[in-house]
Amino acid sequence: MFLSKFLSGELCEVEPVYDPKRGYRYETVETIMGDPSEVEAFLEKLYEAGILARQLHDEVIFCPKCNSAGISTRYCCPYCKSFNIKKSSLIEHVKCGYMDVEENFHKDDRLICQKCHDELTKPDVDYRRAGVWCTCKECNKSFDIPVAKLFCRDCHKEFTFEDASIRPVYTYTLKEDAKKEAAEGWVLIPPITEFLTQNGYEVKSPAYLKGKSGANHMFDIVATTKENTKNPTVIDLATSTNNTVTEQPVIALFAKIFDVTPHAAYLIAIPKLNDNAKKMAELYNIQAVEGKDQKEAINNLKEKITKTK
Ligand SMILES: [Zn+2]
Ligand SMILES: [Zn+2]
Ligand SMILES: [Zn+2]
Repeated sequence: MFLSKFLSGELCEVEPVYDPKRGYRYETVETIMGDPSEVEAFLEKLYEAGILARQLHDEVIFCPKCNSAGISTRYCCPYCKSFNIKKSSLIEHVKCGYMDVEENFHKDDRLICQKCHDELTKPDVDYRRAGVWCTCKECNKSFDIPVAKLFCRDCHKEFTFEDASIRPVYTYTLKEDAKKEAAEGWVLIPPITEFLTQNGYEVKSPAYLKGKSGANHMFDIVATTKENTKNPTVIDLATSTNNTVTEQPVIALFAKIFDVTPHAAYLIAIPKLNDNAKKMAELYNIQAVEGKDQKEAINNLKEKITKTK
């Protein structure tokens, strides 16, 4: 469902949205998953599987005491550690070299030098800004670089960068090759399902079947007739975007049907199986259906299914 939103164009990227209470959330994915707590692990898994690409969106700081993401930065006096400080900028009068904080140059609406009493009008010509200057309102000391501290707005704990836990937050997109691969499988399933339904089958896609071993196996399509509900027909899809499909999906399907013993098993390979895979399919009693494109594959499948029904 998640991938189909990308393929239909409804979704082109999954961008986290900031929630002041819970930190970043992926609302579109939450709607699909149902359980918000599983979303991040789900996206991480798809990233690790090479399906999604990601880009760093933000680094979120969490409170070491209550794990809240509602953190603010406090700039403090390096002497008494108070955050009750005043930030100003230093101004230098170019002509006489006098330097002071900006407020001390203010006279009515003008900037006047306290040393030579000239008016400062042209920035970068008459005067230049020489950096930041802070004054502590608690201890009255002045400094240019404040000390940063973090403050939890929820539990009011003040802590340092050292104690903070920081987690990256990403924006996710679907990788181009994954999009191609998914698109082929995705557009293939509805017409097959439709054809089978019209021919009296009950179809599930994807579907799980329990084998003799007790294990559950997933098939792309499982179709049953009313007369034969115990032995369904199973269909898997294998696509290769450039050359031929290898024996790997044949082996995977064989392992599943060995356990499940269906009425018939089909492997749809686009554009075609390699020679070894073809031989194996025959040996394992898997009906290989090839097609250079989806249309051809579907037609070949229809032909085979109508024959074996
Ligand atoms: Zn806290
Ligand atoms: Zn101070
Ligand atoms: Zn001056």
